[in-house]
Amino acid sequence: MAFTLDGDDVCQPISPTPIPDPYWVGFSSSAAQLIGIELSDDGYPRDPQWLEVLAGNSLEVSNHQFTNPIATVYSGHQFGVWAGQLGDGRAILLGEIAGQELQLKGAGMTRYSRMGDGRAVLRSSIREFLCSEAMHALGIPSTRALSIVGSPLPVRRETMETAAVCSRLAPSFIRIGHFEHFASSQQYVRLKELADLLIRNHYPECLNAEQPYLDLYSKICERNAILVAQWQSVGFCHGVLNSDNISALGLTMAYGPFGFLDHFQIDHVCNHSDQAGRYAYHRQPQIMHSNMACLASAFLPLIESSCDEAKAQTILRDALEHFPRVYAKTWQTLFRSKLGFEVSHENDIGLIERLIQAMHDSRVDFTSFFRQLGSVRQEQKPAELLLRDQFIDRPLIDCWFGDYLERLKLESSDDIKRKSKMNAINPKYILRNHLAQTAIENAQNGDYAEVSRLLRILSKPYDEQAEYEDYSIAPPDSLQKIAVSCSS
Ligand code: AMP
Ligand code: MG
Repeated sequence: MAFTLDGDDVCQPISPTPIPDPYWVGFSSSAAQLIGIELSDDGYPRDPQWLEVLAGNSLEVSNHQFTNPIATVYSGHQFGVWAGQLGDGRAILLGEIAGQELQLKGAGMTRYSRMGDGRAVLRSSIREFLCSEAMHALGIPSTRALSIVGSPLPVRRETMETAAVCSRLAPSFIRIGHFEHFASSQQYVRLKELADLLIRNHYPECLNAEQPYLDLYSKICERNAILVAQWQSVGFCHGVLNSDNISALGLTMAYGPFGFLDHFQIDHVCNHSDQAGRYAYHRQPQIMHSNMACLASAFLPLIESSCDEAKAQTILRDALEHFPRVYAKTWQTLFRSKLGFEVSHENDIGLIERLIQAMHDSRVDFTSFFRQLGSVRQEQKPAELLLRDQFIDRPLIDCWFGDYLERLKLESSDDIKRKSKMNAINPKYILRNHLAQTAIENAQNGDYAEVSRLLRILSKPYDEQAEYEDYSIAPPDSLQKIAVSCSS
């Protein structure tokens, strides 16, 4: 449901700034289905006016008019420090269709652009587009991406690049930062309106709770705890887990310098600009927890309306303490399934932790290892397993495999059934950086076929797709260190 808070203190009514000579770079027919866009045989919209709308050059298609485009204000903590007011500096919310908000990223300057130019470059738009759709296909909640429209418009970053507009869909783009904004500026009526809007449109079950705002808070925490466990389970590093990049619906959002782990390193940092490693892979759960603490502070005035300050703090602190429990439970369930365990055994977590340590020590490819683990047969001996060759310390991994094979005996599924269940949770295809990089370089040379091909492959991440085997393989060392920074 569209962001319906109105007023100069909440948003700026603003139309996108047009771009010259727009052209399609990518289009997701699956996202298009969400809002009922009719497509031609080539997979692009039948109505050519959609290109103009998704470029930010028009507000009208044949059966729809966007009458009230806006940019919204939010605030937030960036890299652990209060950054004050931010806002949609380059994203413009066109409006709502079929229960989805349609937003254009890179659609020109707004009141909240600060020092920025309101644009996004082709490179970062391709990354956001592909990863949004890849996450969705993995079964991980995410804002969706509908299209990338390119333009020859020059944009200055470290070098001169060209502009692109990525269109995104979500039931709501409300972030933790929206709450922080109204709480920090002491606009408590607005804060309440925002919470009411979120409950009404997205968390109606909270209305039945004794304390609807507390329940809303707990549910936002819970969704984000589950989300971060899902990220860990596929080796996804977000890169910039600032509180303004965290969704109030528990969706993955704000794709910037993200990365999937190739060769596993527990403290991997995907964002070149994050020199302190604040957002390293293993710190993501803790960082999400601290973002939920920021949200708790913002919720204080709402909870205080029904009790005193000390009591409100205690209530919120208790709710926040729920986060690590939900996270741990989800993480354990997911990793048990990744190893093919349906029943639960007290030694499982130790077994998983030993594996993770061994994978880290040998820098084993995260995705392909788990995928191949599904092919292990119960009657095999550790020394027969090809997978052992990926580890430097063979005696250690043989010992682990011995315990693993023993543990599999507790499972009732046979090898074939277990493999098919493991293949449904251990993806074969993820958006590896080097794959995105090839699609970007081709697109920068005017060839967009690889964007579409990758989108197609990543939309079925759990399928074998034998013809695309190469896309499942870890990059050679020479391609592993693609640096991705905040500049986008
Ligand atoms: P991000 O690091 O992408 O989460 O962005 C942080 C803030 O900077 C948000 O308020 C963005 O809207 C804003 N921002 C980032 N890049 C630009 C840009 N090129 N032009 C205007 N605002 C931007
Ligand atoms: Mg952001």
